Amino acid sequence: MKSTHIETVAIHGSMRAQKAENSPIVPGIELSTIYEHAKDGHREGDLKYSRLQNPNRLELESVLCDLEKGAEAAAFSSGIAAINSVFQTLSHGDHVLIPNDVYFGTRKLMWEFSDRWGLEIDFVDMTNLEVIEAATKKNTRMIWIETPSNPQMFITDVEAMVKWAVDRNVVVAVDNTWPTPFNMNPIDFGVDLVIHSTTKYLGGHSDLIGGAVIAKESGPLMDRVRSVQVVQGGVPSPFDAWMLCRSIRSFPYRMRAHNENASQLAAFMTSLPGIEEVFYPGLVSHPGHKIAKAQMRAFGGMISFLVSAGEPAAKKMVASSRIIKAATSLGGIESIWEHRKSTEGPLSQTPNNLIRLSVGLEHIEDLKVDLQQALESPLTT
Ligand SMILES: *Cc1c(COP(=O)(O)O)cnc(C)c1O
Repeated sequence: MKSTHIETVAIHGSMRAQKAENSPIVPGIELSTIYEHAKDGHREGDLKYSRLQNPNRLELESVLCDLEKGAEAAAFSSGIAAINSVFQTLSHGDHVLIPNDVYFGTRKLMWEFSDRWGLEIDFVDMTNLEVIEAATKKNTRMIWIETPSNPQMFITDVEAMVKWAVDRNVVVAVDNTWPTPFNMNPIDFGVDLVIHSTTKYLGGHSDLIGGAVIAKESGPLMDRVRSVQVVQGGVPSPFDAWMLCRSIRSFPYRMRAHNENASQLAAFMTSLPGIEEVFYPGLVSHPGHKIAKAQMRAFGGMISFLVSAGEPAAKKMVASSRIIKAATSLGGIESIWEHRKSTEGPLSQTPNNLIRLSVGLEHIEDLKVDLQQALESPLTT
């Protein structure tokens, strides 16, 4: 029986079909890099060499595919390796539209490599279809979407972008790391490729790096992604693939709690003097709330906010918490935050009083107390 319920899919989607009786329920880790050839030579579908396929990676790809309702998935050794594979499906001279508040690593990838790869790129306001239309060229071949964007939480209407892209022969790629398949399935709206940093919510414990691309359909586009995966070789190890399958089995329940804690904390923060603005798409006051509500089942575990007293106060706040650790990244069971501009460096376009908070699974009252005392400490000293 194949379930469509995410809780069941997450648990059973990566359990290997066992042939023998009395076999282990939880799949083992297959470390062998090589497989014995059949007597009559290599047959189609046989395992050969673990850069090409590995049972743990196949299990991971299978559950990722089911979670995102895709036709095929490719797992990578990092989120950025997955992103890289998608840009490498393009050809010399192709034009790409990228959100101006894109994940900093994607911006950096484009800054350092787009010229060498012969790609034309434009960073645009992805909340505004008119801006996108004006930036479109004859050679526009891909549009990259993050919604909410990182770190300013701008919301893009995914369905409207797919409609726009269809007659223009433009590939729509969505980095779904922040919403996660628990809150949104971009393929429901006709998106071609979904990208994940599995390092974040899917891994969920801040102890592995990984990435994935899931395709709406098999065919030439996904064949190119697959060729970057196996020919360029940025594949995850069997151990990382196994760890990730293990984490994914509890992911829906973790995500439910991330959603709940973040929405409660965001609402609490709007009442605190000293916080100028809270960016969380679940707040009715958020400019993208209506669209977010239409395309997401819940609003995720990330909150960004501006500290009224400015950059030094924001930095001090981050250093003054007790439970919430100062660290980069997101999606783990522990709450962390950072002064985002400091992490991004001098080329950052993030407001200098912005703190990015990844809300973990601690008790909500402890998080409220910690946040408030950290906010008050720079104001009183
Ligand atoms: C972290 C992140 C990435 C990069 O993933 P890595 O696993 O660090 O390579 C890409 N996109 C988004 C939205 C992210 O948050």
